[in-house]
Amino acid sequence: MQQEEIKELFKKNRALLTGHFKLSSGLHSDTYFQAALILQHPKEAEILAEKLAKKIKENNIEVDVVISPAMGGVIIGHEMGRALGTRAIFTERIDRKVSLRRGFSVNESERILIVEDVITTGLSTKEVIDTVKSIGARVVAVVSLVDRSAGKVDFGIPKFSLLNLEVKSYKEEECPMCKEGNTAVKPGSRK
Ligand SMILES: [Zn+2]
Repeated sequence: MQQEEIKELFKKNRALLTGHFKLSSGLHSDTYFQAALILQHPKEAEILAEKLAKKIKENNIEVDVVISPAMGGVIIGHEMGRALGTRAIFTERIDRKVSLRRGFSVNESERILIVEDVITTGLSTKEVIDTVKSIGARVVAVVSLVDRSAGKVDFGIPKFSLLNLEVKSYKEEECPMCKEGNTAVKPGSRK
């Protein structure tokens, strides 16, 4: 499936919106992405995971365990586990530290796939990778539904995304859409 088709699928589910938005960070942007709005449909989540799994298989990457960061990665991570026939577990952030809880564990022989909904700066993904490495397991690849860095983030291991988006965001006083006299809306608010 091409990028444009993926984009249309996200748009159809209102997970990807274009317009003039005021994000929760306060920044203005012409694009809004909320993976949860497509992942709320189990059938769509399954289809997206199968597409990501195909990239892993095509590249002959062997995976024993899928690990995703809560909350955003949990649903797509679980579906990836289904698509690849592996366990799917998740990390949580407690007191700012990323860790495996709930009795989840991995051993040194297991090959780990990190699954994200969105990669923005890559910093939180890097923390998950470091946590897994500190346990002694091997991270073989990273996948995400959307890469908002437009492919710029590099973890030194294979990385695959269904959609590369270069999202521009602006401070309100520098926003070109505001300068044209348009009013920013909060994503999710209905007119
Ligand atoms: Zn604006």
